[in-house]
Amino acid sequence: MIQITMPLNFLGTVYREIRQSLVDMGEMFDLLEQPAEVSDKPGAHDLVVSEGRVELDNVEFGYDPERPILQGVSLVVEGGQTVAIVGPSGSGKSTIGRLLFRFYDVGGGALRIDGQDIRDVTQTSLHDAIGVVPQDTVLFNDSIRYNIAYGRDGASEEEIEAAAQAAQIHDFIISLPQGYDTMVGERGLKLSGGEKQRVGIARTLLKNPPILLLDEATSALDTETEQEIKVALNRAAEGRTVLTIAHRLSTIAEADRIIVLEHGQIVEEGTHTDLLARRGRYSQLWARQQAEEEEAA
Ligand code: ADP
Ligand code: MG
Repeated sequence: MIQITMPLNFLGTVYREIRQSLVDMGEMFDLLEQPAEVSDKPGAHDLVVSEGRVELDNVEFGYDPERPILQGVSLVVEGGQTVAIVGPSGSGKSTIGRLLFRFYDVGGGALRIDGQDIRDVTQTSLHDAIGVVPQDTVLFNDSIRYNIAYGRDGASEEEIEAAAQAAQIHDFIISLPQGYDTMVGERGLKLSGGEKQRVGIARTLLKNPPILLLDEATSALDTETEQEIKVALNRAAEGRTVLTIAHRLSTIAEADRIIVLEHGQIVEEGTHTDLLARRGRYSQLWARQQAEEEEAA
């Protein structure tokens, strides 16, 4: 389980951040099933984000040293760009997200944000800089306002509503008899998958991180919901660096760049149009998914 070792007087100040990070990471990575293996190195400084440039420099990694997962992955996401990572299940996509959070340290190479090796910075500052929109947003048994405001302590009513508006969930909320006071979660109103995801997006928007890590839903959403989520995600991406771990290719066609990962190596890279024209792995993945979607419809 998790072990947190640090002076007690420190705990009060960082408790909220830790709790927030654990929720973010837990949602995405099933944190509680994983050991916390890394800690701040002595003299670690806070990450300073200027452009929001994310760089993987020849990254090597294996959960088990005998079994390499990522093998020499190099990738730059310029500040403000959207890069999507696609590839078959087990190819290492989520592992890249876990390494960016410094959930594990790389076995070789380096991961840098605006030139700073993430091993040299405090984890609190690293986690503050990265917002996660998980596949499955965890809702607390509380009001929908509380659930959005959880993205940041002390958010004003206006800020909460602005985040909900950008996340395309405000109109739905005010259509409810209790509005923002509506109780949600296990014992309250059951939100659909798409509504929960938009609450998650609103929560992240309120936190206002310079870097976004998106883990797309695997399950098919109805077309209307998918469109709303697409709008919400586009709003969320404005002015931020975005790394999308994509399952459905249809939602990433507009990314600045698409990376195709296979067996922990980048096998193709380019825009949607480039990659289709190349008639390689991406175009095969695309054709297969189109066929599956047609079959489902
Ligand atoms: P993807 O997201 O592309 O489906 P992952 O990055 O989750 O793939 O996993 C890549 C490989 O690493 C898989 O073979 C998976 O079984 C393995 N793996 C993932 N998490 C762990 C872990 N905690 N311990 C050991 N192996 C893992
Ligand atoms: Mg995955």
